[in-house]
Amino acid sequence: MRMVLLGPPGAGKGTQAQRIVSRFGILHLSTGDMLRAAAAAETCIGRKVKRMMASGALVPDQLVIAAIVERISQADAGRGFVLDGFPRTISQAVAFDDLLDTEGLVLDHVVELRADEEVLLDRILTRAREAMESGGAVRADDNRETLKVRLDAYNEQTAPLVEYYRTRDLLRSVDGLQPVDAVTFELFRAIGQG
Ligand code: ADP
Repeated sequence: MRMVLLGPPGAGKGTQAQRIVSRFGILHLSTGDMLRAAAAAETCIGRKVKRMMASGALVPDQLVIAAIVERISQADAGRGFVLDGFPRTISQAVAFDDLLDTEGLVLDHVVELRADEEVLLDRILTRAREAMESGGAVRADDNRETLKVRLDAYNEQTAPLVEYYRTRDLLRSVDGLQPVDAVTFELFRAIGQG
C-alpha cells in the first residue's frame, strides 16, 4: 500500500503514520524526520537546510524530491509506504507522479487530516513542553512565532494539493480534532480497511 498523509503542522500525521505502520507493516517516510536527521548529522544537505527549517520555511523542492526518489528506490520500500510531509508543493506532487509512473507504481490513498489553527498551536506548544520535561530535544520550529510561518507555508503551498488529489479521486478527509483512536478508526474506514 502506498499512501500520502496531508495536513497542517500538528494535525497528527506522525501519530497516525505510526498506527498505519503497525497495521500494514509498510514504511513511514517523513521528509521532516529525514531532513532533521541530515541536519543533526551535519551532512552537506543538513547544513544547507538547518536554518531554513528553523525559520519555518520549506526547503527547496529539488532537494526533498531527490531525497524521496533515492529512498523509494531502496528495496524495503517495495512493501509500500506512508508519506508524511511529502509532497508539500504542487511541483513535488508532479515530480512524485512522474516517479510513480516511471517505476510503474500506483498511489492508493491520500488522506487529509483536518484541524483548525487554534488547536494546532496548542498541540505544538504541548509537544514542545513535553519534550522539554522529558529531557528530549525540542524542535527548533516548535514555537509560536515559527508556527505562524509554517501555517502560512501550509496554506499557500501545500493546501492546493487537496484539490490536486481530489480531482484525481484519491482524496479522503478525516477530522483530525477527534481523539487519536477515533481519528485512526475513521482513517482506516476512509481507506476501506475499517
Ligand atoms: P510539520 O508537518 O509539523 O510542519 P515536518 O517535520 O513535516 O513538520 O517538517 C518540518 C520542516 O521540514 C518544514 O517546515 C520544512 O522546513 C521541512 N520540510 C519537510 N518536508 C518538506 C517538503 N516536502 N518540502 C519542503 N520542506 C520540507
